Amino acid sequence: MKPMPWTPFASLTETLRALQTGEVSSEEVTRAYLDRMARLEPRIHAFLAVYPAQALAAAQAADRRRQMARHHPDEEVPPLLGLPIAVKDVLAVRGMELTCGSRILEGFVPPYTATAVQRLLDAGVVIVGKTNTDEFAMGSSTENSAYGPTHNPWDLDRVPGGSSGGSAAAVAARLVPAALGTDTGGSVRQPASFTGVSGLKPTYGRVSRYGLVAYGSSLDTVGVLAPSVADIVPLFTLMAGADPRDATSMDVPVPDITLPGPEAVRGLRIGLPKEYFLAEGMQPEVAQAVQDAVQHLEALGAQVVEVSLPHTAYALPVYYIIAPSEASANLARYDGIRYGPREAADRMWDVFYRTRGRRFGPEVKRRIMLGTYALSAGYYDAYYAQAQKVRTLLKRDFEAAFEQVDVLAAPVAPTTAFRLGEKTEDPLAMYLEDIFTLPANLAGVPGLAFPVGFDAQGLPIGMQLMGPHFREDLLFRVAHAYQQTTDWHTRVPPLAHLEG
Ligand code: GLN
Repeated sequence: MKPMPWTPFASLTETLRALQTGEVSSEEVTRAYLDRMARLEPRIHAFLAVYPAQALAAAQAADRRRQMARHHPDEEVPPLLGLPIAVKDVLAVRGMELTCGSRILEGFVPPYTATAVQRLLDAGVVIVGKTNTDEFAMGSSTENSAYGPTHNPWDLDRVPGGSSGGSAAAVAARLVPAALGTDTGGSVRQPASFTGVSGLKPTYGRVSRYGLVAYGSSLDTVGVLAPSVADIVPLFTLMAGADPRDATSMDVPVPDITLPGPEAVRGLRIGLPKEYFLAEGMQPEVAQAVQDAVQHLEALGAQVVEVSLPHTAYALPVYYIIAPSEASANLARYDGIRYGPREAADRMWDVFYRTRGRRFGPEVKRRIMLGTYALSAGYYDAYYAQAQKVRTLLKRDFEAAFEQVDVLAAPVAPTTAFRLGEKTEDPLAMYLEDIFTLPANLAGVPGLAFPVGFDAQGLPIGMQLMGPHFREDLLFRVAHAYQQTTDWHTRVPPLAHLEG
């Protein structure tokens, strides 16, 4: 039987195979995605910058390299040679503008590349562009981007989630086979869930943060979004591992992850944390879809037990002290002197005030003020130090749970994608979107989101698995078993009417 001709709807794994066999060239693949982008981007706005000429040149170079290797069999071919991907615009790529969705970094071009990105470049990827994000990754909808929001490909009047909403929308609309995102409090998992794709937040310290613009340094992780879990694995494995340039990266061996069949979940214990199903404002269809997915795993042979993570309700207040505190310190460096544009003034302090006053958006200012307050003398013990103590309790909740079960299963967010503008006037309502994703960041454990159904409005619903530190392999095993026996991850949004 002749294989189907390659299309931009092929999975990453299929695309890699087609590149390897020579069925299709990297130039053809890259051009096909760029063409799709040209037609769909005006309505989706997943990207802050696209580099078509650079991407095509890199694709042609990849094709030449592959060609050469055909004649020199001992020449090594990098595993991702010629594969186009997109990168969230909080990760530095040398020569590409790095704005973090902020006016304060408008026009800033970094002189170096983030380690996670560099490792993928060394493996042969072609970077097509930088994706939209909430300003400095602060947000859950991409509406805090200074350059305008991204639209959810499933319903253009709705948000794609955030802050990696650009990466999620780009993958969902099949504008790229995969994209990098970052997750400080849910920013890979929640947009993955809102757009019907899979998204990994690795263990804290698993992937180097060097070259990732710091938001909450004790929480920040670099993750991957792609249609399926099998598509994420090769990128994750190549990105992971210790890096001398990030002292918080950990020297824990990265296992060679081979994905077993669905029988691999037999006997695995899956915990359902009861606190994750009691939340106020939970859309019943979300809870139902997650329960159904868990039942599906049970039918494949997993054992399901209810567990308790008793401090879950504190995750939100703890996170919204710690993350802004760290942000207020990290963002002090944007003063108009060292990075990005400068607002002119006669006196030094006025340069600082004007540059920061005019170029930071309202959410970033809110976080800087919250964090500065929580860290100030007289309040430090009551807020910041207290939050750190409760963070330890949250971590212990996970440790206790993982003595009983192998992985935890829960919803990603209490609702499906909300309407653009629906929560922009109410920061607290926006923060509440994060209640199920924040605990994994505070505890540093890995989380994997993937689609498990749709609500009555046709919007995707996501489920997340959380596992012990450095056990991403367990999450992959369970999610892959689910995806081999279901087809939610193959659904694509109906965009034909926009393609013209
Ligand atoms: N929504 C959360 C916040 O605004 C998480 C963002 C993130 O993970 N980068 O902080």
